[in-house]
Amino acid sequence: DLRNPEKDFTGDIEIEQKLRPLTFVDFKGQAQVVENLKIFVQAASMRNEALDHVLLHGPPGLGKTTLSNIIANELNVGFKVTSGPVLDKPGDLAGILTSLEPNDVLFIDEIHRLSPIVEEYLYSAMEDYKIDILIDKGPGAKSIQIELNPFTLIGATTRSGLLTSPLRARFGINCHLEYYDLDVLSGILLRSSGILNTSITTESAEEIARRSRGTPRIANALLRRVRDFAQVKGDGTISLDITRFSLKSLNIDEYGLDDMDRKILLTLMDKFDGGPVGVTTISTAVSEDSGTIEEVYEPFLIKEGFLKRTPRGRVVTRLAYKHFGREPGNIQTS
Ligand code: ADP
Repeated sequence: DLRNPEKDFTGDIEIEQKLRPLTFVDFKGQAQVVENLKIFVQAASMRNEALDHVLLHGPPGLGKTTLSNIIANELNVGFKVTSGPVLDKPGDLAGILTSLEPNDVLFIDEIHRLSPIVEEYLYSAMEDYKIDILIDKGPGAKSIQIELNPFTLIGATTRSGLLTSPLRARFGINCHLEYYDLDVLSGILLRSSGILNTSITTESAEEIARRSRGTPRIANALLRRVRDFAQVKGDGTISLDITRFSLKSLNIDEYGLDDMDRKILLTLMDKFDGGPVGVTTISTAVSEDSGTIEEVYEPFLIKEGFLKRTPRGRVVTRLAYKHFGREPGNIQTS
C-alpha cells in the first residue's frame, strides 16, 4: 500500500525525509491554505506569541505532517511529534506538554484516535496552558495544577468527522487539504528528481503524476520505483517508455486506482447494478470502515468522476464502466 509510509523500506524512509519540503516556498499547491497560514505565522511571530492551534484534515499523504513541520520551522520554534494512538495515558501527554519550550509546536497525528481521558486533559492545556496532575492514588490522592509554556497544537486527521465537537472547537485555525492538480504534482516530481540526482523528462513526470491519485506521497513513491527500473533496464534517465513500462509492471492503472478503489467500484457494478447504494452497505460488502470509505476513498473517486453521491446513495458513472470495460447495466461481463 503506497499510502502507508510505515510499509516502505528503510532506505525509502531516508529518501522520503530528503524529499520533504522544509519551507513554505518549497511546499507546492494548497495555495489558499498556505497563503492563510503564512499570514497567521507571520502575525504570531510579530507578536512573539504562540500560533493559535491548527487542525489539518484531508486524505493521507497530502502533506499534513510536512506542513506542520514547515509551520514550526517558519515560526523558528521546536517541533515535537506524537500521535493519537501512542498517547494512551494522561501521563504520556503531561510528559510531552511539560517538555515544550515557549511557543513550540506539538504535532499530534491521527488526533481522532485520542482516548477520551487524554482528550479531556488536552482541553485545559489548549485553552489555558494548564494541566491538572493527580498525585498518589486512593484517599491521599490530590491534584496539582501545572502551568505550561504557551504552545501550538497542530492536530492532523484523515477523519475529521470523528472529532468530538469540544475538541474541534478548540482549534482556532482549521484547514482542509485537497488532492493536488496534475501540474503541481509534476512540479513536485521534477523537484524530487532533482534532489535524487535523476534526470527525468517532463512527459514522464506528467505520466507519473497522472497515476498518483493526486497525492504527493504516492507520486514520490512511484518515482523511486520508476527510477529503479530506469537504472536497471535503461541508462538511468527516466524516459516516457521506461515510465510506462514500470507503471505497467507495478500494476498501476491509468488512473492510479488502488485495490480498494477497484473493489468499491467493482462491488457497486457487480453486486448492486451500479447503485444507488448506501455507504454502510458498501462498507459491509468490501469489509472497510464506512467512515474511511467516506473520507479517504470516495473523495478521490468522486473527483475523478467514477462515483457520484446522490440523496439515495452512491452511484457509479459511465466512466467507471468504461474504465473496467463493462457495459452499464450489463452486470456479469467478465
Ligand atoms: P500526511 O501527513 O498528510 O499523510 P506527509 O506530510 O507525510 O502527508 O506527506 C507525504 C510526503 O509527500 C512527504 O514526505 C513529502 O515529501 C511529500 N509532500 C507532501 N506535500 C507536498 C508538497 N506540497 N510539496 C512537495 N512534497 C510534498
